[in-house]
Amino acid sequence: MQISTAANPTPVDDARLVEILANPGFGVHFTDHMLTVEWTPDAGWHDARITPYGPLTLDPATAVLHYAQETFEGMKAYRHDDGSIWTFRPEQNAARMVRSSARLAFPELPVEDFVACVDALVEVDQRWVPDSEGEKSLYLRPFMFASEKFLGVRPAQHVTFMVIASPAGAYFKGGVKPVNLWLSETFTRAGRGGMGAAKTGGNYAASLAAQREAIEQGCDQVVFLDDQEFRYIEELGGMNLFFVHADGRVVTPETGTILEGITRASIIELAGKLGHAVEERKFSIDEWRDGVASGEITEVFACGTAAVVTPVGELRSPHGVTPAPASTELTMRIRDALVGMQFGRAEDTFGWMHRVC
Ligand SMILES: *Cc1c(COP(=O)(O)O)cnc(C)c1O
Repeated sequence: MQISTAANPTPVDDARLVEILANPGFGVHFTDHMLTVEWTPDAGWHDARITPYGPLTLDPATAVLHYAQETFEGMKAYRHDDGSIWTFRPEQNAARMVRSSARLAFPELPVEDFVACVDALVEVDQRWVPDSEGEKSLYLRPFMFASEKFLGVRPAQHVTFMVIASPAGAYFKGGVKPVNLWLSETFTRAGRGGMGAAKTGGNYAASLAAQREAIEQGCDQVVFLDDQEFRYIEELGGMNLFFVHADGRVVTPETGTILEGITRASIIELAGKLGHAVEERKFSIDEWRDGVASGEITEVFACGTAAVVTPVGELRSPHGVTPAPASTELTMRIRDALVGMQFGRAEDTFGWMHRVC
């Protein structure tokens, strides 16, 4: 894929950039450039270009605004102590976008083109990748949307793929802190044959009413159950879940309607290498409650690119509170191992890191 570059004539100046990178927050500041590629049935993917970051002009009839045909990815670029810049398993994000795209009836963006696009934007905006101290990174958001101006319902004949980038501070300010969860007994985020396994905005739209409920209940995030019996644990709005047992076994809900997290997949491999038996299977809400009560479950944690790994504290529902499990030992060991690899402070034994520049 040929990518042209039109440099931003008025990039953010160095003094302002230092200020932004000192306290980037999340998703509020954007780099000097963005990357765009178009697709039409006749031309395929074409006109890949890096241009100054700025607003899009969209016709009000643009299909994505009406029927939500879109998919996205979330990943990070990390600066190592020698100044080099790396991403974590980017081909996995690319492969997942191919799967999401298939579910959303989009054309397939080849894995190598996806990775080349992300690399190209990171390289152009490399001064926006913060120093590694405090687990800061450059958050990358590749996304694809139906850009055709058409109100009929069918797969779009004009599709746009973009990558934007935003510096991100540590997910946890002042140290890792357990998240308290709200169990939704009203809403589900996905169902059989639905889009649960696709990374698409619609799943997030479906999670917001439940998320609002969680906030009202003083919780940080929502646990969703399966849509058939409201019995089996699925995941949080944007993170996968793991349950550590007293005998060392680690259980995580099986795939199907959940999003196949790359952090989840990496933890399954890592925990195996650390000598833990890992089970991917149905895991019920009763197993969670009873396991914590009996001491059979010693740790619960959630994972995703943004937080990497976070211990789970209390689980609240209209039917009472399940307290935080006793330990966070394995949770923190896994977290430290992943963060160590990502920032180049631990050996990359799995070959997961990809050097950008
Ligand atoms: C992105 C996402 C995750 C986490 O996936 P990672 O690849 O680990 O970042 C989990 N659940 C949902 C619904 C997601 O969208």
